[in-house]
Amino acid sequence: MFDVQAIRSEFPILESQVHGNPLVYFDNGATTQKPNMVIEAERQFYLQHNANVHRGAHYLSACATRQYEETRSRLAAYLEVETKEIVWTKGATESLNLIAHGLQNHISKNEVILLSELEHHANIVPWQQLANKTGAIVKAIPVDSQGIISIDVALEYIQRYKPRIFAIAHASNGLGNIQPVAQLIAEAKKHNTICVVDGAQAFAHLAPKPIELGCDFYVGSAHKAFGPTGVGFLYGRYELLNQLLPYQTGGEMIDTVTIEHTTFNDAPSKFEAGTPNIAGVVAFGAALKFIQAIDRRTSQKHELTLRTALVEELRRIPNIVLIGDHEHNIGTVSFVVNGVHPLDIATLLDHQGIAVRTGHHCNQPLMQKLQISGTVRVSFSLYNTLDEIALFITALNESLDLLKD
Ligand code: PMP
Repeated sequence: MFDVQAIRSEFPILESQVHGNPLVYFDNGATTQKPNMVIEAERQFYLQHNANVHRGAHYLSACATRQYEETRSRLAAYLEVETKEIVWTKGATESLNLIAHGLQNHISKNEVILLSELEHHANIVPWQQLANKTGAIVKAIPVDSQGIISIDVALEYIQRYKPRIFAIAHASNGLGNIQPVAQLIAEAKKHNTICVVDGAQAFAHLAPKPIELGCDFYVGSAHKAFGPTGVGFLYGRYELLNQLLPYQTGGEMIDTVTIEHTTFNDAPSKFEAGTPNIAGVVAFGAALKFIQAIDRRTSQKHELTLRTALVEELRRIPNIVLIGDHEHNIGTVSFVVNGVHPLDIATLLDHQGIAVRTGHHCNQPLMQKLQISGTVRVSFSLYNTLDEIALFITALNESLDLLKD
């Protein structure tokens, strides 16, 4: 039995009022709210254990290092990979930049970096930069008019281009589509392709296992999975991870330094120059404990029940066009209303305490393909309820009435 009220009681912000109305937080794709145990872990770190990691020969530094490294082991266990295969970053964006920068020596002129049209800008721009530096070529698997990638089309693109690098979102941020990444990677691996999965959206919903997916790299952000902002991770298959060029240089990542020359540590510390977000990583450890205590199948079922309920309601409202994959979805509903600007809807919803996201969602190529400027996006988390959907639908109908006048 999935007790949503018990879960909600762990999230103090969900009690808030916004513009005199109870907060309805439907912007979880942008960032999730934080449970007490995460807020408390960060507070306790600064109250009791604050020190720098890996340096001091003193008690507090040992405590900080232990907690920081315990979180690395906890994440590794959750992903079912080795602890030394986890690198801390400040978010999925930095993880993708780190990989794209680090692979410079693994790609040559005219080799292909294959993406898809529904990638977040964070999984496009770093690859363009890599292509600019190396003469590689960026190609993208197209989406159909619903914003869905057909498996056949994707397989055909992989066979046609035999890419050197294939980078794809596990789940789309704009639409919530879950991609058949394991199947696509299996095909790409026939061509010895380096496979990168952007798990920023999927991580909180799908309990991903990079080895099962067959990828070389898997990235995510703590803040989209109940953890703090400013912390992200990168899983890399160790042999390849250790071959990446360092992304940032300085303290912590070195083995020896002379004025003329430096040798680097092995991964993961090779990629963790400088003082990291220690309190954030420790608090992410608490977020992982929170996630691990929840049965993912029931929480996923709950999120999909919410999605189905909202889609049914939206289908009754004239002029609403739903976009995205309704069969394989993490619990995101993206739509446009013919003749109405998404931002006008979001602004009126906000007056009623409802938080949604509008715009291109850092998916400009997807929006260009769909020939729209943006969508209204409702992205659910496990603490959302059917009552909130009822509030949303009432508020949406009222907003659309106002906008008609
Ligand atoms: N990829 C996807 C699919 C995302 O949704 C996001 C965040 N919206 C990112 C990458 C970047 O994550 P962050 O902003 O946490 O670095």
